[in-house]
Amino acid sequence: MIRVAAIVAAGGRGTRLGAGVPKQVLDLCGISVLQRSIDALLAAGLVETVVVALPADLAADPDRYVRPIPGRVRVVTGGERRQDSVARALKAVPAEAEVVLVHDAARPFVSRAVIARVAETAAAHGAAVAAVRARDTVKRATAGEGAVVVGGTLPREEIYLAQTPQGFSREVLAAAVRLGERLEATDEAMLAEAAGYRVHLVEGDERNMKITTAADLELARALTTGPVRTGIGYDLHRFVEGRPLVLGGVRIPHERGLHGHSDADAIAHAVTDAVLGAAALGDVGTLFPDTDPRWKDADSMRMLAAAVDRLRDAGGRVVNVDVVVVAERPKIGPHREAIRAALAGVLGVAPMAVSVKGKTNEGVDATGRGEALAVHAVATVAGIGLEPAGATRA
Ligand code: MG
Repeated sequence: MIRVAAIVAAGGRGTRLGAGVPKQVLDLCGISVLQRSIDALLAAGLVETVVVALPADLAADPDRYVRPIPGRVRVVTGGERRQDSVARALKAVPAEAEVVLVHDAARPFVSRAVIARVAETAAAHGAAVAAVRARDTVKRATAGEGAVVVGGTLPREEIYLAQTPQGFSREVLAAAVRLGERLEATDEAMLAEAAGYRVHLVEGDERNMKITTAADLELARALTTGPVRTGIGYDLHRFVEGRPLVLGGVRIPHERGLHGHSDADAIAHAVTDAVLGAAALGDVGTLFPDTDPRWKDADSMRMLAAAVDRLRDAGGRVVNVDVVVVAERPKIGPHREAIRAALAGVLGVAPMAVSVKGKTNEGVDATGRGEALAVHAVATVAGIGLEPAGATRA
């Protein structure tokens, strides 16, 4: 069994994502991108120790950014350039490690198979890099007259896109690091090549993406299976004369409507509470108080839309909703499909993800006597961690 350690180069201050925090500590369903990358390395069962190079300000309080695991995770202060961070981290790699992997902090989806291929090839040949074949035709750009034009087409079969991990025997990485003192490089393999070593290409993985842009982060969040969270909502309104009956945004012909400050859409209210509840983002009463004139006679589907916006701002999305309407009359069945479609549109899901059922109360209580209509709703959401957004630690 080869002894493997890994270096995670997280020294950069890349703030291209505009979130005001380094991209490696951005949240992916309650766990930072950096921590997910570290976890992926440790979970492979091959890597014994991970040395993380953090920017100086983050390294001053490492436990805030990296979950401390004594003996397995070490934090060092990174350097000016990526290669300087790797050089500093290499000094903290345990002496018994035969192979050292260098991994980007922003590649949280690396698989065990890729880690194993890189480690085994590095052990056998000294240097290995995970890479994927170019699938698109590759053009070399050249400056034209005020434009960028094609200067040539590269033979695609020769083009590989380097990922991480990149793996090296200790001696090869030490030589690469020494060369890096006087040479600029974008990855460690480049330094190993320049130092005269043969670097083997091993099969990477398209899913082993590097999160660099806002679009990458969106994609990464969609790929991340966080916990699925459940919320419950309930609402009841009295029937009164002289108001229209609106349920789930659909106007339903009936001799009476529901009493309320807004349009009294009890389905919209219950579903809004279920969605907000699933993400612990508050409730209808506090977000849309009935003392606020803006919501007088308002279309309550707008409240639901505002709740869905809040959910999205927190990184979440609705998975499905189930609704029970309790009323003696009118019958819900004839309006079910219209209500499902209206809710699905606002929730941003397919109608398949929305269920609406009608029940009577068998003549019992106020709903049974036809004095009121009640709604129960359950919503599940994904993409929300178990810590509030922004408060994410490691
Ligand atoms: Mg209500």
